[in-house]
Amino acid sequence: MSTTDSPSPLSPEDVAVITGNLDEVAERARAAAEAAGRSGDEVRVLLATKTQPVEKIRVALEHGFTLIGENKVQEITGKAEALADLNPETHLIGPLQRNKVNHTLRHARCIQSVDNLALAEKINNRLDVLDETVDYFVQVNTSREDSKFGVAPEDAEALITETRKLDRMRLRGLMTIGLPGSSPDEIRPSYSDLRELSERLRESGVMAAEATELSMGMSADFELAISEGATIVRVGSSIFGARA
Ligand SMILES: *Cc1c(COP(=O)(O)O)cnc(C)c1O
Repeated sequence: MSTTDSPSPLSPEDVAVITGNLDEVAERARAAAEAAGRSGDEVRVLLATKTQPVEKIRVALEHGFTLIGENKVQEITGKAEALADLNPETHLIGPLQRNKVNHTLRHARCIQSVDNLALAEKINNRLDVLDETVDYFVQVNTSREDSKFGVAPEDAEALITETRKLDRMRLRGLMTIGLPGSSPDEIRPSYSDLRELSERLRESGVMAAEATELSMGMSADFELAISEGATIVRVGSSIFGARA
């Protein structure tokens, strides 16, 4: 069951495939940024590592990547300990249940999936006890579909107005997933909507001027997301191969 305790060493060929993929994704991200008149430095590639064994993640970290995103608190805990020597910057990019907040805060520097006030208050209360702070994104449901995750765009302002009062949490920006499996034409409005929402909320002072991060784009569409302003793209299968 656990993805963290199999020592299965990677063959040199496996390592070469991963590092080749990493170089290719980094190059495509840089080219997409430049094509959009942006600097390649404005875009970070987050390794979406759900279900991937620590051996593969280690290859990516040793290759110079620093940012990893996990979906499940259970996976964060085991992997963070196995990779502690490489000191990755770990973000939670999946849904967070309120009873998992303690475990998450132990290992995640940023929570990208804050989408309701009760969760944010729970996080802030725990941070009070720990005397710590955490970065976060508000996750927005831009897919125009009923989705369980993400605040509706029209409710984002009210949520952020309240979460900004929580003094141990630092809002870095907005995150969205968009509609999984959609074509580029179908997904683009999700990304442009997130950018426009971010601009509007910063202009009106609802979000701080420095909360400029936009986490959007995955393997299938990260260049499109960069053209729409992504500052973090979350890439998994293009780097590590299909998930088990
Ligand atoms: C799995 C996942 C990704 C990456 O998806 P790929 O298609 O494998 O690149 C990005 N964001 C979230 C929230 C994910 O769960």
